[in-house]
Amino acid sequence: MVVDLKDEIRYRGYEPNPKIIIPNENLLSIYELIKDFDMNEVEYKRESLRSILVKAKEFFDKYYELHKVPFEIFKKVGPFDFSYDCEISPFWLPIKRVDEDAYYGMLRELIVCGEETRTVFTGIELPKIITEASTLSYVHEITHSQDNHIYGSIRNYYNTELLSVFNELLCAGSMDDGGKLSHLADVLRLSDLKYGIKFLQDGLGKEDEKYNELAEASCYVESTLKAYNMYMDYYSGDKMTRQYIILMIQKVFDGEITLEQCLEALDITYPNSLSPKKLTKFLKR
Ligand SMILES: [Zn+2]
Repeated sequence: MVVDLKDEIRYRGYEPNPKIIIPNENLLSIYELIKDFDMNEVEYKRESLRSILVKAKEFFDKYYELHKVPFEIFKKVGPFDFSYDCEISPFWLPIKRVDEDAYYGMLRELIVCGEETRTVFTGIELPKIITEASTLSYVHEITHSQDNHIYGSIRNYYNTELLSVFNELLCAGSMDDGGKLSHLADVLRLSDLKYGIKFLQDGLGKEDEKYNELAEASCYVESTLKAYNMYMDYYSGDKMTRQYIILMIQKVFDGEITLEQCLEALDITYPNSLSPKKLTKFLKR
């Protein structure tokens, strides 16, 4: 069943009816700052599936302890449907290659409604042509498998992309490649942010008729800005600050605290993530 955004928000336990973001002066200054980033102008270097899986696994092993995830497999045998349910390492989720752009990734999941609502995963989709960008997409989707199935671990729908984007930046920054993957991550994320801000600006006054699309854009805009804010603190932080940020994220993965409690501990808010000055300095790194 394909669910409407409002139903999805309810099933997953997010706070209902998030308000569409209206771009303010700071958000528009950030738009000006990033308007030359364009993901369509990038030449993507081909890579093997194996090499991007190894890089992503090494990244997670270095920073986190990941938990197993609920997995469901469906099989049709003659007229009968069989399904089998178990818990597996997120790296064992089957990978399906689909005809999509180089930066595409998708965690396939099912929301099962019963006595209690739960999420099960069925696999991860990556593009047929694997490139250097696929490491980031795979890290992004594996992160979703860690923060997105414990009911109530994220309260605000607009934070749902935050840790996935943060881990893309952290993974790219941890590569010993002279900053190449970090630059690619910036191009992908900041051009996506640019399109999101533009979409919100164009949608002014259409909040009712285009609610779902504008809420989705608001989610990407807010999550990306907060993820950058958090990563900029990590990047410029000392060893203790860095360890503390990773520890707080691990607690969210473990279901010990909500993502919002993690953000409070790290002092990450939407207003304080709207600093053109901080971003300008970071982009010169
Ligand atoms: Zn995502």
